[in-house]
Amino acid sequence: MNIIKKEQIFQTAKRVWRPFILQISISILIFSLIFFVILFFRNKQLIETEHIVRARSYYEHIIVTRSWVSNYGGVYIEKTESVKSNPYLHDPDIKSTNGKTYTLRNPSLVTIELSEYAKINNFFSYHMTSLNPVNPQNKPDEFEKKALDIFERGQKEIWIKEKKGNQIYFRYMAPIFRENSCLNCHVEQKQINKTDSNIRGGISVKFDISDIENTLKLHSQLIIFLGFLSTSIFLGIVYCFVIKLMKAFSESQRQIQEMAITDELTKLYNRRYFYSKLNEEFEKAQRYKRDISCIMIDIDFFKKVNDQYGHDTGDNVLRAVSNCIKSTCRSIDIVARYGGEEIIILLPETDKFKAALVAEKIRKLIENKEIAYDKEDKTVKVTISLGVADFVSDDIVKHLDPNQFIKNADSALYHAKNSGRNRVEIFST
Ligand code: GH3
Ligand code: MG
Ligand code: MG
Repeated sequence: MNIIKKEQIFQTAKRVWRPFILQISISILIFSLIFFVILFFRNKQLIETEHIVRARSYYEHIIVTRSWVSNYGGVYIEKTESVKSNPYLHDPDIKSTNGKTYTLRNPSLVTIELSEYAKINNFFSYHMTSLNPVNPQNKPDEFEKKALDIFERGQKEIWIKEKKGNQIYFRYMAPIFRENSCLNCHVEQKQINKTDSNIRGGISVKFDISDIENTLKLHSQLIIFLGFLSTSIFLGIVYCFVIKLMKAFSESQRQIQEMAITDELTKLYNRRYFYSKLNEEFEKAQRYKRDISCIMIDIDFFKKVNDQYGHDTGDNVLRAVSNCIKSTCRSIDIVARYGGEEIIILLPETDKFKAALVAEKIRKLIENKEIAYDKEDKTVKVTISLGVADFVSDDIVKHLDPNQFIKNADSALYHAKNSGRNRVEIFST
């Protein structure tokens, strides 16, 4: 007997839990969003750090090479068809005793030539530049001009990502400082005097990062996809878990509520629930001006049943009588265990004559019922006495005392007992 509907409790629980589920879901969403955004930016930052480290190492490499060249006052290389003299140097060529001509390569030209060499091989390129270059090839571009300005104000390095068509380049620039070994040439070229600032210009490094950036893009898309997927799965699991929890909770709540209103032995409603329904039905009957009846039932000589067959058989009889009564009543009738072997029925929208017909039907059923009481198919038979009372709509308006109604049914039952038992008596004033 599921008196209290599980679905109803579940729906109520759902209403109560909905804001919590919403809060949990929003919290999970926010947390996973923060988590994946941090992951995304951390990833980006790591790659950028990798670019910077790479650029710095190129820069250091060039500086070391330049220092080496500068310390030797330049290096001489053999002059051939493709090797021209540096036009910015005064008297750069020398002739050896074996007749070969060698031409001087100063740090600036070595830097330019190495850069071209690296560029041809698609490794990276670099550019030595200053705001006031002797060689027009060393003229700064927009990024380099900005960088040189910044270096004058004390910044140590600068980098950007530059997009050209489909290619993405990482550009890095750091200043080069005046070394004593450079002074002789540069003062000679009237480019600087010995009191000038230490910054001579800068070296900018550029290399292609398209591949790694595209991989990063794919990686980021994958992170976003996985973020959505894992958050949805996590939310789904939490939702299923909460629903499962709510169902289990609703079921246990239903059981508790049912236990609170049910008589354990007969599984009929208990007396407390009967009284709460009695007031409710009385209010309805009064509002809609409808009749209401009550049947009070008592098993005849039940003490004898207990004495003769034992208490367990007495319990069985009580259960069988209760089931029989319950199955004869309508769903709107309230059947409750009123006391020891007393059962009460509340029949809404029924006057006492119709209720008496129901009572008589029940009486006959019980009278003819063989109630099994042990394993050897032995049966016992009992009879019941019934008292019927009603409140017709007029009475309800006049006397609003449901207790009186029960008392009337009880006195009709008393009358039935005194008139020989196994009978129905209708209360009359
Ligand atoms: P009457 O016809 O006048 O009603 O006689 P009676 O013997 O039925 O009435 P009485 O009030 O003397 O006895 C009722 C008995 O019902 C007494 C009690 O032992 C028994 N009884 C009450 N509740 C239970 C129960 O839950 N189980 C069993 N087995 N017996 C019960
Ligand atoms: Mg009795
Ligand atoms: Mg009794």
